Amino acid sequence: MTTEPTAIHVEVLPARLGDCLIVECPRPAGPTWRMLVDGGPPDTWPLLEARLRRLDPADRHIDVAVITHIDNDHIGGMLAFLSSDLASDVGDFWFNGRTHLSADAPGKARSIEQGESLVTALLGPLGAPPSGKPGAKPPGRALPWNAAFGGGPIETGAPGASGGVITVTVPDGPTITVLSPTTVGLARLADSWSSRLHDALQPRDRGLAPPADVLGPLDDLPHLAGERTPSDSSVPNGSSIALLLERHGASIVLGADAYGDVLAAGLHGVARARGLQSLPVDAIKLPHHGSQANVVAALLAAAPASHYLVSTNGDVFHHPDDAAMARVVLDAPAGPTLRFNYRTPRTQRWADPRLVAQHGYHVTFPDPAHADAGIVLDLPARR
Ligand SMILES: [Zn+2]
Repeated sequence: MTTEPTAIHVEVLPARLGDCLIVECPRPAGPTWRMLVDGGPPDTWPLLEARLRRLDPADRHIDVAVITHIDNDHIGGMLAFLSSDLASDVGDFWFNGRTHLSADAPGKARSIEQGESLVTALLGPLGAPPSGKPGAKPPGRALPWNAAFGGGPIETGAPGASGGVITVTVPDGPTITVLSPTTVGLARLADSWSSRLHDALQPRDRGLAPPADVLGPLDDLPHLAGERTPSDSSVPNGSSIALLLERHGASIVLGADAYGDVLAAGLHGVARARGLQSLPVDAIKLPHHGSQANVVAALLAAAPASHYLVSTNGDVFHHPDDAAMARVVLDAPAGPTLRFNYRTPRTQRWADPRLVAQHGYHVTFPDPAHADAGIVLDLPARR
């Protein structure tokens, strides 16, 4: 048996309620292409830092670091990252800042304002270094920011202008398609940027203890899947940068906390451009930690996948929702694999042998001996 080389390698680190992903494209002759997607909440930083410092010093660069949207469970660890020496090894930061939000002139390129830095964009309203890091100084030099997009916003573009498909092609690396946010979804942040950013810099899970998680039965998945659930209306979530990565026939959707219908529309756009009804992919990092408000039937139909990655330990919001996972189990093509980055009482139920046998799917959890690794998945080249 010959083993195909890995086209895309993905790690979903255990970032509690948040997201922190490392995506790599190994190159046989040359440096690995590497992307960091979010940094989890602030307390994910030690884990992320240890992971990055384990990289071969000669190959420690990060080609792209994505800050998908301003929410504490995504930017907390990134603020510490930005204050570290590791930030200087980043080729390009992908982040939509305040200056990218204006919808005043639709179609007009909106670029980073002269003199504005990524760090001040993230910390400007507070004018303070990341919490808990007194004396932490932002790197002295300007960090590259949205360079792959000419310094402009990262979004799907106006419908019609580009067919709704904005693509970045990395030589001998992945082809990356922007699935979210839409121009409108990004502009909606404009009125509330400062207050949203202020909120995002506060840990989400301090103060009142959340109600205990109540685990219901999983004996009627069609009923659970069919539950009418409200759509996600969070403005920051709607501004999420979500991406499709493709390389050598392998593919993964990095769903961030994006809206399900926006992801579905973007994926349908890509499929349509290829003369397809839907876009089969290898893997999806389910949006918004497997929230039922984001994992909707339209998304699952748009991109049937083999691997569904779930990034959460259930803190605060008790994700993933049963309705979301029931939709995946029932709607996914035969034999999908649910990959959880934590084994919790909530996720463990989905590995019930009776349920697995009845619906013909697979479940994986992190190896207990390497729980700090989270989900580790290699997608082989197909061509
Ligand atoms: Zn989130």
